[in-house]
Amino acid sequence: MVRTGVYPGSFDPITLGHMDIIRRAAHLVDRLVIGVTTNASKSPMFTLDERLAMVRSEVEGIVDGVDGAATEIDVVAFDSLLMHFAEREGASIIIRGLRAVADFEYEYQMAGMNQQLNDDIETVFLMADVALQPIASRLVKEIALYGGDISRFVTPSVADQVRARVERNGRMVEG
Ligand code: ADP
Repeated sequence: MVRTGVYPGSFDPITLGHMDIIRRAAHLVDRLVIGVTTNASKSPMFTLDERLAMVRSEVEGIVDGVDGAATEIDVVAFDSLLMHFAEREGASIIIRGLRAVADFEYEYQMAGMNQQLNDDIETVFLMADVALQPIASRLVKEIALYGGDISRFVTPSVADQVRARVERNGRMVEG
């Protein structure tokens, strides 16, 4: 039996915190489906296609798996109820990352509601490496917007894309 987990998120952009959770999740399942939400309400910095491409290229090198077998990692977009997405993918677990207290209330409520929707799919919370725990996509964007150094929070390739986007948006405002 193939054990599948889904890891949903906006990944706007994917950070070293996300990457750490993905690596940890890959140890737990045979197949990990990273679900990138369309999330129009959050007015993301990157389009869905850009986020999908970014996540795909970042996870290319991850081969961690159960008992030495490589975990298959799929990156797919989803625009439905998370539980429906998890069911469609044949998942037995939903992976969420847990940072500080601030995440807890929302995550607790969501896990509780999802349990009511389908009690056979378990929400599993993982914590990133302590050094990576404070990282949030929202703050990465904010720091970049004010010209700060984001190189400790994202890979060089993602940092370049964020800087390019900030520059382009900045020029759009000026022009
Ligand atoms: P969402 O809009 O679903 O919160 P995010 O891309 O912000 O999407 O986050 C996706 C998941 O990754 C969430 O479960 C979030 O708590 C987790 N996550 C994000 N950054 C970190 C981090 N630095 N450490 C641990 N978990 C994280």
